[in-house]
Amino acid sequence: MTVLVFLDPSYPDGRIADATKPTLMATDQGATRGDGIFESLLAVGGAPRKMQAHLDRLGSSARALDLDIPEQETWRRAMATALAEFRQGVTADDASDEAVVKLIVTRGVEGSATPTAWVQVSTPPAAGKLQRETGIDVLLLDRGFDSGLAERAPWLLLGAKTLSYAVNMAALRYAHANGADDVIFTSSDGRVLEGPTSSVLLAQLEGEGQTQVKRLITPRLDSGILPGTSQGALFKAARAAGWELGYGPLEPADLFDADAVWLISSIRLLAPVNRIDGKEIGAADVRASLTAELSALMDGAE
Ligand code: PLP
Repeated sequence: MTVLVFLDPSYPDGRIADATKPTLMATDQGATRGDGIFESLLAVGGAPRKMQAHLDRLGSSARALDLDIPEQETWRRAMATALAEFRQGVTADDASDEAVVKLIVTRGVEGSATPTAWVQVSTPPAAGKLQRETGIDVLLLDRGFDSGLAERAPWLLLGAKTLSYAVNMAALRYAHANGADDVIFTSSDGRVLEGPTSSVLLAQLEGEGQTQVKRLITPRLDSGILPGTSQGALFKAARAAGWELGYGPLEPADLFDADAVWLISSIRLLAPVNRIDGKEIGAADVRASLTAELSALMDGAE
């Protein structure tokens, strides 16, 4: 089931549209050029998770693209309308009560100066839940950029969440065609970057028992990757729980030497990586217990 609510000045709470009917102009630059931005977040029981972090990141993507987008309060109202409509429509046996909320803005129809903006709420894909439990196999794939390019070439929009995800989807198809579930991109200078729809995390354990040091590391946020709202929220919760935190730079060898590696994102949440390029990462029991510990920290983390 899918619900659409357009942000429209004539409707303060948003205008509900029929998702089974054409609703977008064929000349919309989101369709003709992929010129726009989006956010994907999870709602549980009708409540969007990490809403402020997602609205803030939508704002920074909009600034990177020079897009004049609606106020945060307008998005909050449209989300509330869309989630209420969605919850009315889902059947009682849809017990998980989870929904994927997308906030989408395009540059609008050709020749107009008004962006098109809408909220889409839909049922989460079943595969994500399964992968949280069973883990994933990942391929390292070259993204072809060096890790300093984002700073030198802001017009490439590397840190923005733009609608141009065709390359990310192609990388996932490549992984599926080659027996893997997902991808970790590397830079041309040999750094670990991110997944096509996720951030990369690794854990290092030192010592044992009471004095054990547990360290959580993610790639440098200025290396041309999207700063993950899930990684940010988990880091806050993990710090409070006594973990040490680090921000790269990371190389593939760091992944192979880690006690555990995860891909983390708003909808699938924490997916443990079983193998990278066919090589097992860490030990299965350590991976499982760290995944349980960090998943519990993520529950309710904003
Ligand atoms: N990196 C990329 C390229 C993404 O597309 C995403 C999410 O879709 C992430 C990282 C993780 O971001 P978040 O945790 O905010 O979902």
